[in-house]
Amino acid sequence: MDNGQLPATHRSQQVFEDSPVFEMACRQLDAVGEVIDLDQGVLERLMKPKRSLVVSVPIRMDSGETRNFWGYRVQHSLTSGPAKGGLRYHPSVDLGEVAALAMWMSWKCGIMNLPFGGGKGGITVDCAQISLGEKERLTRRFTEEVLCIIGPRQDVMAPDLGTDEQTMAWIMDTYSMSVDYACPEIVTGKPVELGGCVGRREATGRGVVYCVMKALQEIKANASDATAVVQGFGNVGSVVCQELSTRGIKIVAVGDRYGAIANPRGIDLAALNKHMQARNLLKDFPGAEQIPSEELLTTPCTILVPAALERVITSANAGKLRCRVLAEAANGPTTPDADVILKGSDIFIIPDVLCNAGGVTVSYFEWVQDIQQYLWTEQQVNQKLEELMLRAFNQVRGFAQQRNLAMRTAALSIGVQKTAKEKMRRGLYP
Ligand code: NAD
Repeated sequence: MDNGQLPATHRSQQVFEDSPVFEMACRQLDAVGEVIDLDQGVLERLMKPKRSLVVSVPIRMDSGETRNFWGYRVQHSLTSGPAKGGLRYHPSVDLGEVAALAMWMSWKCGIMNLPFGGGKGGITVDCAQISLGEKERLTRRFTEEVLCIIGPRQDVMAPDLGTDEQTMAWIMDTYSMSVDYACPEIVTGKPVELGGCVGRREATGRGVVYCVMKALQEIKANASDATAVVQGFGNVGSVVCQELSTRGIKIVAVGDRYGAIANPRGIDLAALNKHMQARNLLKDFPGAEQIPSEELLTTPCTILVPAALERVITSANAGKLRCRVLAEAANGPTTPDADVILKGSDIFIIPDVLCNAGGVTVSYFEWVQDIQQYLWTEQQVNQKLEELMLRAFNQVRGFAQQRNLAMRTAALSIGVQKTAKEKMRRGLYP
């Protein structure tokens, strides 16, 4: 505290306007506002999240001591239906990041024509530093703290960075105990035994790959000659690797938070999965060479897939990308400054709000099934997912060509326009 500041564990970033990620989301919205000639009043409403809740989450650690974590839930828009969006556990989580991610969720739901508004939540915590029991207590207490704003018709959470099916099961249980009946529709991305949807875990990665295959057609590239580099080997990244490889595409480099590896002959995914399941570090995989993490994104390939954090493609490395297709599986991986540089290249960008929308799409299927108590087969889920992803891809591509826009601007325009139209139709209360 010598510098007059609170220690990092006590500080929280609670003003979203100060956040570079939120600023990035606002800059994108501003630019789109001009393209679609958005009413100024509506633009201002869309710039501000509808509702933001910051909670302190105290839990008993395994050691017996009590620790407090910051938790956030932001509902960007409630115009089109319940807020929908993931819950992220990561040390960099703050209110601005969560607000930006919530805004992007609104546009994503708009592009996919889903009856949801955008929401997002998070806890500032490093999952590698807490035990499973601590994670469960943190999740249950967080759920208690945000009970006043969540509900199957108000706000429905799903997994994101650092959270998974088990996290959703704890939320479902905590919420169900509070309302006194089993309520699977309070979250999506939960285990299938609890009303989860078959294929939800794989949905984001599958959706990414449906878009990639369309993009390869657009640039007239053959899948059999294509190579891919993937940053992130979690839920999304590992499924993307699997689905690409099933289609004959060679994965030549992969990285995660601990390091990166490359093998120009193609990484043996079955062996890598086995290596990871045995709780080894990805960078120690014997079937590939270690490379510096900062070289991963600039490794030459046909398809580059950032599937980890936001703002990894910046003005510093955008000019060095050596790919033909940039498939944004992560949320917000490319900064607006990097976008300007990429505009002058021949890289085909599949923007995040379209590329990773498979997750929220199958979350929608899950929510519908839970409400109706009627279960679909995995084949039905995958077929419907592919149909909706390709419809959205074609719509965005068509709009981009018609108006001579970048794919990102076209995608955001469609998403923003849908929410804006609904706001205008509903009018202003009272
Ligand atoms: P996850 O926690 O399962 O995996 C994250 C991966 O990123 C891990 O391999 C981790 O090691 C890696 N990573 C973390 N920090 C890194 C760093 N500094 N450098 C390189 N790699 C790093 O998370 P996920 O669910 O796969 O989500 C990944 C991205 O996809 C996030 O941006 C998330 O918002 C987005 N997304 C996820 C879903 C979903 O359904 N899970 C849906 C839409 C978008």
